[in-house]
Amino acid sequence: MYQVTKEVEWSAAHRLLNYKGKCANIHGHSYRAIFTFEGNTLDENGMVIDFTILKEKIQKWIDENWDHALILSHEDPLLNITKTNKHFIINGNPTAENMAEFLFYYFRTEFTRISLISVGVFEGSKSSAIYTSK
Ligand SMILES: [Zn+2]
Repeated sequence: MYQVTKEVEWSAAHRLLNYKGKCANIHGHSYRAIFTFEGNTLDENGMVIDFTILKEKIQKWIDENWDHALILSHEDPLLNITKTNKHFIINGNPTAENMAEFLFYYFRTEFTRISLISVGVFEGSKSSAIYTSK
């Protein structure tokens, strides 16, 4: 069995609802996500999957949806006034945990021959949450 990883980066703002602390205010992070895939066969080039294909699909989606966006809970009242800003609605608070879970289920079915095993989302360089199928 082979494992391959792909790392993507973006910047975004978010805030946490019903949270007592400074993260209740809108603030930004440099985010990084690490996708880990498994595959048991190699193609004619000796690859589980071409990293270029992973980058094209994942980074493109991140750039279009999350980069320089305001990521908000589906219950956030700010949704009513931020319609002209780039924003993305996520179920529950936009924590690294919920963002990792979202990315896991979104990209789980995007690739053939390989299985998505986990997605880790880093908020800054020192904190991360990993959602895994295991
Ligand atoms: Zn934050």
